[in-house]
Amino acid sequence: MSNKFIFVLNCGSSSLKFALIDSQSQQQVLSGLADALGSAKPILKIKYQGNKETIELAKNAAHQIAIDTLVERLKRFQLDESIIAIGHRVVHGGEKFQQSVIITDDVITQIEQVSQLAPLHNPANIIGIKAAKKAFGQLPHVAVFDTELHQTLPEKDFLYALPYALYKEHGIRRYGFHGTSHYYITQQAAKTLNIDVDKLNIISAHLGNGASICAIKNGKSVDTSMGLTPLEGLVMGTRTGDLDPAISQYLIEQLNYTQTQVNVLFNQQSGLLGISELSNDCRVIEEQALAGHQGARLALDIFCYRLAKYIASYTVPLGRLDALVFTGGIGENSDVIRANVLNLLQIFGFSVNEQANIAARFGQAGIITNESGPTALVIPTNEELVIAQDALALTQQEL
Ligand code: AMP
Repeated sequence: MSNKFIFVLNCGSSSLKFALIDSQSQQQVLSGLADALGSAKPILKIKYQGNKETIELAKNAAHQIAIDTLVERLKRFQLDESIIAIGHRVVHGGEKFQQSVIITDDVITQIEQVSQLAPLHNPANIIGIKAAKKAFGQLPHVAVFDTELHQTLPEKDFLYALPYALYKEHGIRRYGFHGTSHYYITQQAAKTLNIDVDKLNIISAHLGNGASICAIKNGKSVDTSMGLTPLEGLVMGTRTGDLDPAISQYLIEQLNYTQTQVNVLFNQQSGLLGISELSNDCRVIEEQALAGHQGARLALDIFCYRLAKYIASYTVPLGRLDALVFTGGIGENSDVIRANVLNLLQIFGFSVNEQANIAARFGQAGIITNESGPTALVIPTNEELVIAQDALALTQQEL
């Protein structure tokens, strides 16, 4: 039988990440990203069979051109005819989407309606869906939502202390994101620890440029740090995370910021970048902190302290903790941040196994603590695989 592939697309406002996943082996056959879309110098990078190709797209080329160019390459590699479904990451599903769905015109309209809740994210996802539908009109397209996993949050966790009518009438509540990553981590942690998923209690810390943490009780999300939007919670690469909401008013009334400037400040100029006045790249922050840069040290301290406080607070809904799991670009690679955070959590008895913690940085993921205390794990995430698995499952149901 010839191989069948699922094509996974993850569209940002000016970027597009993609992967072609073999439905049998679940391995990535091809992957890459388009970046700086809509700018003077958009590029498309494709990784296939050990080769990396960088294509300079025409000035101002956006998602449609990137996808068309990609399809042309897929044809050249004779991969296009083996694609059986397209999986799309959609950031916000609101309360409308409790699980992944086959994308119909009606679904697109509903995603558009939810876009009010995620104006920075969903419009880009819809652009990607429409562009991919033009290129692959005959194939089933599936939407997989970042918010799906957290639809099991109890009301006491997802409600803000605002008048209840704002939730009932306008849907203002915590939704949570990174659901595909936290889901993958849950499944993998259950395997590593040899515990049934429906009995597993973990804290999953997805630390990438965006960062969130999730309390999983009996295999289900019961609390998570991102909120109505992905701005709340942990300190991130360029996002503030938790903040006194009155700061927004202060900036506008006392410092003459516009609302747009406040949004840009909170989402793009804060976090590690804002504190360090240096970079949002954790590698740079770590190097410079080591070299004595005060801003970098402060950024690292605040990042770790906020994260440790969240981890400690998530023991409240869990009661029993089977493991703390680190994932995402920072969680998988930064032994420094993992060690700092575990040291801040010594009250729980975490004891870092230094060798294992450093080894995890070089692809040897697994347990990084000594047996004497609670378990901490490093598990590389695989959001593309979860999207592909959902797309495959729904497509097969349809057949
Ligand atoms: P992601 O959004 O999951 O791709 O993660 C991106 C983040 O991972 C960036 O802040 C990178 O600096 C960080 N990262 C990647 N490799 C390392 C590393 N070796 N050490 C520390 N941080 C890293």
